[in-house]
Amino acid sequence: MLLKNLTGLTLEELEAFAVEHGEKEFRGRQLFSWIYEKNMRSFEKMTNISKSFSQKLRHIARVGQLDLYTKNISPASGAVKYLFSLYDNNFIESVYIPEDKRRTLCISSQVGCALNCSFCATAKIGFKRNLSAGEIVDQVLFVESDIGEELTNIVFMGMGEPFKNYDQVIKAAQLINHPDGIAVGARRIVISTAGVADKIYRFSDEGHKFRLAVSLNSPFNIKREKLMPVTKKWDLESLMTAIKYYANKSKQLPTIEYVLFDGINDNHKDALELKRLLSKIPAKINIIPYNTSIPGFKRPEPEKVDQFIQWLLPLNAPVSVRWSKGDDIDAACGQLAGKYEKKGMSIKTGDE
Ligand code: SF4
Repeated sequence: MLLKNLTGLTLEELEAFAVEHGEKEFRGRQLFSWIYEKNMRSFEKMTNISKSFSQKLRHIARVGQLDLYTKNISPASGAVKYLFSLYDNNFIESVYIPEDKRRTLCISSQVGCALNCSFCATAKIGFKRNLSAGEIVDQVLFVESDIGEELTNIVFMGMGEPFKNYDQVIKAAQLINHPDGIAVGARRIVISTAGVADKIYRFSDEGHKFRLAVSLNSPFNIKREKLMPVTKKWDLESLMTAIKYYANKSKQLPTIEYVLFDGINDNHKDALELKRLLSKIPAKINIIPYNTSIPGFKRPEPEKVDQFIQWLLPLNAPVSVRWSKGDDIDAACGQLAGKYEKKGMSIKTGDE
């Protein structure tokens, strides 16, 4: 018999599950609290669940979607890269980034990615499948349990394009945000897209409070298309219109991410055109010097990064530079490649 995995079920779904198995609705609320608030995986230790229900649960259900395969800690920054195996022999990575009082987890939303950005290590493994909300949320639960502390910030910037797995990503974000569960504030949850414009409209219309980031990387269509083939479907004009729509509708500043590649998108012309584009929308700008992981793409020297920012100024928007942490363990932006593929080993399967 296949066990029902409870991680990823909403409060209402857990209540319905309890009723379906002859229990009162409030048992579902108790399960919700144990799974998401107390981060408990063992039914035996859920002390306010009746003994008979607890015994039944052991035969029909389980908690937890992921198995840890490897964990690498960066000596330089303390960042931790987790490699998880899934029930179907696929793998995903999550990266924990400690920084002062912030404890951020960068999570994956798909196994691989279909968008094929030329600078991205995840793209090289192709698209395998979407993650379920449970597999997304369990990255948060697992890491909180591992570090023994609550995470303060969640960013959907790991493997995959979140808006290509829209429903499960939103469901997971709502579970992560739920005040009776993991309870990370909506403004501390960032969903990043490579520019899937139709979902930017949907996200805006649905009124979600999570923050939106858009990875831009070039202000020129021809160059952007080479870096990010998604530009063929949604060019810069349609993307900027969608971003503006989001800003107006949500009254929130979107973040524009610009990964800086040496000799590719870091010259004066790029900066001036980027400045012109950004003068039209209210946004925050994040400049991210590339973490070398794909041949042909290099990180610019710090002086070139400074120069690029100077060219952008004065800009009617906050500009910051984010030097990704964890590049010494291939855990920084664009470096999540699922190195497991090189190991050629077999992995135990789950039971869902
Ligand atoms: S950068 Fe993001 S959207 Fe582009 S291929 Fe990599 S994971 Fe996919």
